Amino acid sequence: MVNNKKRAFRILSSISGIIPVEILKQITRQKTIFPFYHLISDEEVPHVKFLYRIRNTKEFIADLDLFLKHYKPIGVAEVLDSYKADRPLPENSFLLSFDDGLREFNDVVAPILLQKGIPATCFLNSGFVDNRDLFYRYKASLLIGRLKETGIQTEPVRTWFRDHHLSENTHDYGLLTISYSNRYLLDELAVLLDYDFGEYLRKNHPYLDFAQIQTLIRQGFTFGAHSIDHPEFRFLPENEQIRQTSQSILDIKEKFGLYYKLFSFPFTDFGIQTSFFDRIFDPAEPFADLTFGGAGLKRDSVRKNIQRIPFEEGSLNAKQILATEYAYYMIKSIFGKNLIRR
Ligand SMILES: [Zn+2]
Repeated sequence: MVNNKKRAFRILSSISGIIPVEILKQITRQKTIFPFYHLISDEEVPHVKFLYRIRNTKEFIADLDLFLKHYKPIGVAEVLDSYKADRPLPENSFLLSFDDGLREFNDVVAPILLQKGIPATCFLNSGFVDNRDLFYRYKASLLIGRLKETGIQTEPVRTWFRDHHLSENTHDYGLLTISYSNRYLLDELAVLLDYDFGEYLRKNHPYLDFAQIQTLIRQGFTFGAHSIDHPEFRFLPENEQIRQTSQSILDIKEKFGLYYKLFSFPFTDFGIQTSFFDRIFDPAEPFADLTFGGAGLKRDSVRKNIQRIPFEEGSLNAKQILATEYAYYMIKSIFGKNLIRR
């Protein structure tokens, strides 16, 4: 989340919680929401532990009950139908989604959603399905965990930190500053620390596998792509953005025999240009039917790019997050800034 928004959120969250959701819906006329998460767990998850706070099942169920009180759950098919027929989205409804294709979608989330009769869409990194590899930020979280346990014991590790200008004295050892373009550094450090990501993948199965996804599809869940290996798009040349998008969508579509083509941006769709969307949604041969960002309650000048609301922000409950998103939307609308222009 950008800093301005964080600041506004802190101020707004203390006051907006007292305004009823129904009134906020009326004022903003934003009556369809797209909440999204990564994973829900009652256990500690080492590969996300140092990245963000996750919700437990109790908190998640409370979130769902709030959504159900004010909105009707819809599946992606209803959203696709609205777009195809050029109709507005069904009012007072919500479409739930999950990024990164993690095992907890099967183990924790799906049973709760099936019981409550709520559909959901899960976005997969095509390169990580079946635990073939691990997202570089997850690697960073695992290595931070390892370093916190053992400290920096050997001279080669100390030298490595010095050589790469990373500070061994910060809470994350500087490992969260490592970006997609130099993610190989995390593999280098793992060797020095004698940490085996392959073993972590084999033992913990952080990602969904083929059979689980097939079962989830039979149960009515829908799937989309989330790039091949989770780069931050705004730092990629456009051709590589297109390759990451089109190949991951095609891969997921063919592997699971899907009739729809969905994509959610890894990290953020901030800075993605109209020319990218023109190619992705080329009417002659579209790579995607719909794409999804995570900028909160906002409209997008690209009609087929839907903005979702992250519900993992700090320790706020769903009512506070939702009310704050609405309040922030209202303030931005005064300045005409609730529309993302590309
Ligand atoms: Zn992601």
